[in-house]
Amino acid sequence: MKDDVRALAAEFKAFLSSREEDDLTPAACHQAAAHVSAAAQGHEGQLAGRQAAAPRSDDNHGAASQPQDHLTIEFVRAGKHPFHTVSAASVPTAAPAASQPHAAPAVSAAQTQEKAASQDALTPQSTDTMQDKQAALNQIAEEIKACRRCPLGQTRLNAVPGEGNPSAELMFIGEGPGFDEDHKGRPFIGRAGQLLDKMIAAMGLKREQVFIGNIAKCHPMVNPADPEARGNDRAPNAGEIAVCRKYIERQIAVISPKYIVALGGVAAKALISDTKSLGALRGKFHLLHLDTVELKTPVKIIATYHPAALLRNPGWKKDAWADLQMVMAEMGLKRPQA
Ligand code: SF4
Repeated sequence: MKDDVRALAAEFKAFLSSREEDDLTPAACHQAAAHVSAAAQGHEGQLAGRQAAAPRSDDNHGAASQPQDHLTIEFVRAGKHPFHTVSAASVPTAAPAASQPHAAPAVSAAQTQEKAASQDALTPQSTDTMQDKQAALNQIAEEIKACRRCPLGQTRLNAVPGEGNPSAELMFIGEGPGFDEDHKGRPFIGRAGQLLDKMIAAMGLKREQVFIGNIAKCHPMVNPADPEARGNDRAPNAGEIAVCRKYIERQIAVISPKYIVALGGVAAKALISDTKSLGALRGKFHLLHLDTVELKTPVKIIATYHPAALLRNPGWKKDAWADLQMVMAEMGLKRPQA
């Protein structure tokens, strides 16, 4: 899939390169969008016809009045479009730039190509707006709820996709749901979740401002035959993580946070791709490593104790607070006044 998208992005760049600088108008970009869409679906014959009927680059009124290119729109809906801002739906209705006395200076071909490169959507989950992101997260959540790819799916009461701000700058990621989460289908809502809420509040944030999830989306149990038993939680094993991690990776790609706090050693090792102990991973930022998707921008990740571990070992709270303060310093957050 990535190779296909890269090939399409390269084709788009080549198409732009073939245009004169003063020809890179919205109409021309619309034409480029149609070109890539048609190429993606093997409709080069349709493309030739569409190019013949496409508005001239000096006729933006014509571009605005053209019916929407259904191939382009389908491509956008599929989340594969590498240049949302030049889709048919976004072609402006303004008069030609030459007729506007205060028109912005023309964008150079190099700038346009650079922008196109930066907007390359290398993953199907890459999205631009809050609404797009929420829709993409909803889609992933539906897939998780239907998933039975590992044994945890056979014994869970509810899958727990995760929840929060689809454009969060900060994500908290744990290892897997426990008893309370399994019963409600929401992450971090038991005692450990209440402590996490306090940790988030101490950072000057609200739970709704961040995204909270787990690497494994279904409840790992010591005794899978008894989901009603308390004290039946365990960490997901390596096989379960390997099968399930594609979901959290897609969620990260959609949300595109700047920072992640990995809660506990299991989550930290999986996301940092390092087998060192939590003690060795704590206290510094790492670069996030994903297996199944490519990030558009690097994400910094810090490891700290899982809130459940802090409930068992309150003496570790000061170390966890030190980790969170490192994130706060990076994000420019201040602890609220008591
Ligand atoms: S834990 Fe993940 S892979 Fe396993 S069934 Fe649940 S959603 Fe699917």
